[in-house]
Amino acid sequence: MRIAIAGGGPGGLTLARILHRHGIGAVVYERDADRSARTQGGMLDLHSESGQHALTEAGLAGRFWSAARPEGEELRILDPAGRMLLHHRPQPSSVAGRPEIDRSDLRDLLLDSLPGDTIVWQHRLVAATPRPGGGFALTFDDGRTTGCDVLIGADGARSVVRPLLTDAPLSTVALLAELSVGDVDRRHPDLAALVGPGNLWCLGESRILAAQRLGDGSLRVGISLPADGVGLDAASDTRALLAGGPGLGAAPDTRTLLDMFRGWSPRLTALVEAADGAATMRRIETMPIGTRWATRPGVTLIGDAAHLMPPVGEGANQAMLDAAELAAALAANPADPDAAIRAYEETMFRRIGPIAEMSARVQVMMLTPTAAADLLRFFTPEPAG
Ligand SMILES: Cc1cc2nc3c(=O)[nH]c(=O)nc-3n(C[C@H](O)[C@H](O)[C@H](O)COP(=O)(O)OP(=O)(O)OC[C@H]3O[C@@H](n4cnc5c(N)ncnc54)[C@H](O)[C@@H]3O)c2cc1C
Repeated sequence: MRIAIAGGGPGGLTLARILHRHGIGAVVYERDADRSARTQGGMLDLHSESGQHALTEAGLAGRFWSAARPEGEELRILDPAGRMLLHHRPQPSSVAGRPEIDRSDLRDLLLDSLPGDTIVWQHRLVAATPRPGGGFALTFDDGRTTGCDVLIGADGARSVVRPLLTDAPLSTVALLAELSVGDVDRRHPDLAALVGPGNLWCLGESRILAAQRLGDGSLRVGISLPADGVGLDAASDTRALLAGGPGLGAAPDTRTLLDMFRGWSPRLTALVEAADGAATMRRIETMPIGTRWATRPGVTLIGDAAHLMPPVGEGANQAMLDAAELAAALAANPADPDAAIRAYEETMFRRIGPIAEMSARVQVMMLTPTAAADLLRFFTPEPAG
């Protein structure tokens, strides 16, 4: 049985690793040229019941705890004047929490655990065509072709495998401008102190200025805005951003970004002014809640390819849990992969529905005019009794 996995993100690599532990070979086709072809983005907090569970199944829990940054769980929520509204500190040496790990460290940890020939770099899948006798013919962007008996789409938000199973549309729920500030302790100690070891969210009316400390001593800064512009004082804010960034036009300049934070404390807007280089713009897209499909022999989806949700802390965790559950099903039933796929999909659809609903609710909450009050209620435990 030739298993092909399209995409070497958290989902695809976790799947390949757990299959390997069960003695089942798989090939991961990844579009990146190599492991260092692009920066991997910010941190991920891995939850015990999903991301951490998958790493335990992968036999990598010990290495995860060596690379994890439990202090990265610290969260500070500020208002536009710079007043602290909430300060969550993780319990010291807690193993019950949701420790953060840099995406690049997670990717390295998974890549290093796989036999060298598992990942085939520089292979962007462009088409998967059913073969008459079963399985799929795979075509890559340089014209190369190969075949497989089982195809698993782990190729993220804009999956090429997804249309074999569903034509669920994507909708844009927010816009995100991403910036980076390097070597922050030396160059901007004031910003290092403001953000602390974890996450900072500054909540204004229908906009968020957030920053995250990474293990390499840099800050990742993000500006989130509602995609429809509702709640923004000047509709031109959204128009300017929609016109900016790769895939969206030219990148917005610092002045355009700062204009959205008129009246905010200069301590906070310094995060934008200190950024190295232009902003990267992206649309935050989602699939409809409750997306499911009729099982089709020889093909399935995991992670963002299966259930693209707003980025509120579940996507990578669920991708890794998908991987663990699909690998377990295939290992339990190697003679009948279609039965394994059916069992995996039923469990995954049931699990993802409520998580996608919760993620959508939090996403809406974060970009409403009353975000600060709503989020404080969300994070403040109900008094006992
Ligand atoms: C700003 C932001 C913050 C987030 N924060 C969190 C968080 O804190 N916690 C959390 O759990 N989730 C978070 N998420 C969500 C998380 O990033 C995704 O849900 C997760 O990465 C999905 O993993 P995946 O393996 O399914 O897909 P991806 O991570 O997208 O990986 C897909 C892989 O497939 C490759 N690929 C794509 N197309 C092809 C192709 N045609 N052929 C070959 N290879 C291909 C890509 O290069 C990539 O390596 C966040 C997302 C964003 C945007």
